[in-house]
Amino acid sequence: MVSRVIPVETFDLVIFGGTGDLARRKILPGLYRRYVAGQIPEGSRIIGAARAELDDAGFRAFVAEAIEEFVPAKARDAEAVARFLEHLHYVSVDAKGTTGWKELGKLIRKDVVQAFYFSVAPSLFGDLAERLHGNKIATPDSRIVVEKPFGRDLESARALNATLAEHFAESQIYRIDHYLGKETVQNLMAVRFANILFEPLWNARHVDHVQITVAETVGVGGRGAYYDRSGAMRDMVQNHMMQLLCLIAMEAPYQFDPDAVRDEKLKVIRALEPVTPEDIVRGQYRASKDTASYPADAENPNSTTESFIALKVEVANWRWKGTPFYLRTGKRLRARASEIAIVFKEVPHSIFGDEEGWRENVLSIRLQPNEGMTLSVMIKEPGPGGMRLTEVPLDMSFAEALGEDGADIPDAYERLIMDVIRGNQTLFMRGDEVEAAWAWTDPIIAGWEAKGDKPKGYDAFSSGPEDALMLLHRDARRWREIAE
Ligand code: NAD
Repeated sequence: MVSRVIPVETFDLVIFGGTGDLARRKILPGLYRRYVAGQIPEGSRIIGAARAELDDAGFRAFVAEAIEEFVPAKARDAEAVARFLEHLHYVSVDAKGTTGWKELGKLIRKDVVQAFYFSVAPSLFGDLAERLHGNKIATPDSRIVVEKPFGRDLESARALNATLAEHFAESQIYRIDHYLGKETVQNLMAVRFANILFEPLWNARHVDHVQITVAETVGVGGRGAYYDRSGAMRDMVQNHMMQLLCLIAMEAPYQFDPDAVRDEKLKVIRALEPVTPEDIVRGQYRASKDTASYPADAENPNSTTESFIALKVEVANWRWKGTPFYLRTGKRLRARASEIAIVFKEVPHSIFGDEEGWRENVLSIRLQPNEGMTLSVMIKEPGPGGMRLTEVPLDMSFAEALGEDGADIPDAYERLIMDVIRGNQTLFMRGDEVEAAWAWTDPIIAGWEAKGDKPKGYDAFSSGPEDALMLLHRDARRWREIAE
């Protein structure tokens, strides 16, 4: 299946933090891939803006290296790289001072789409917004892209929204949650709303429970000090997992339009019940033979920050009352695997008697690795052994189904940046959504802080603390295996 590539309008994209880690690993290689795919018009410019004293040639050399390192060899082509590099420029800019703003103002054109990617620490977002405005660089049509984290609680998120709102309208602000750029995550909406099959069953009458797992094998070493101020709840649940939960739980928007989709997501967040302490398990990984413990990685021996969290979440509305959503995420777990599993109820009556090996239907949506979906169904075990049942997967790997030889699914950042240029905010978080998510998260964190809760230790490369298993056993349910 060959996907159609529709070029975007000619643009000037300024990447503040253009020499940073995110730009090097994701943004710039992603732009190269979109260029090669024919999506970026020749008249477009990509302008790196950061503190380093570089010229265009220096920045181009930096980007060439990033492409070499982060674009697979089969997608690289020396001639295409050379043509791509001609679109790159660089201005040395100080977000907190006056350096570079005049030069940037001269370089940027007012008659093409203008986008400013804030790939810098959030403490600089306000400075950038103010200077873009004060130096008359931004226009009422320019777009700004802001990275995570968007605040660390409701108060700071509100303050950030207010600062950005001083200079930009909500329709100009693109808050990135790169999970929303994943092919599978968007497919969740396609599966739900472009097929008649699932939606009639998509409710508390037919869904027993939902599991959302985002498991990583890596620890926090290297960014331990940063992570220790945040923890799994702030780093993963408030944003990425909340977005996944919303897409599973939301009502059908009246059309696939940015505000229609975001209105429905917001309603889900507002319907979330407060979570009681018995429904939360926090953990910290222990050392293994070859890897350090969480407190050692975080360089904080007394740390009470969680590197793992599991929660039971209830959505209090007509569709979902009585169907729990179990969320689990952590570092140093058994495998790098992210999955949403919709576990359906058992049939009301089995005409086959008490068959051993009988399982409920599960729709599993894998985000990584190998994006795809599997629907487990029961069939008759082949052969003459009578009417014995067995579970088989109806498997759809996107790589196989959509790619030529194992697929070329665009990275989330590629898709999202192209959406910014197209002016489509559907896959970006709106300010009120972020605030509602913090309003739900804050009391949960305040609850464990008030009682001085200490996370439970768990073995590195395990499935998390024992107590997390109990969270489901208690309800006579089981977590799905964390496996690649
Ligand atoms: P980084 O520290 O690697 O890079 C920071 C960039 O900001 C550099 O280019 C630096 O020159 C520039 N900068 C710093 N101070 C400046 C100033 N006063 N004026 C102008 N430029 C200045 O950071 P990063 O890892 O690339 O992260 C950037 C943003 O993306 C952060 O908000 C981060 O939270 C977010 N983010 C990063 C990742 C990641 O994988 N790196 C993932 C998700 C979100």
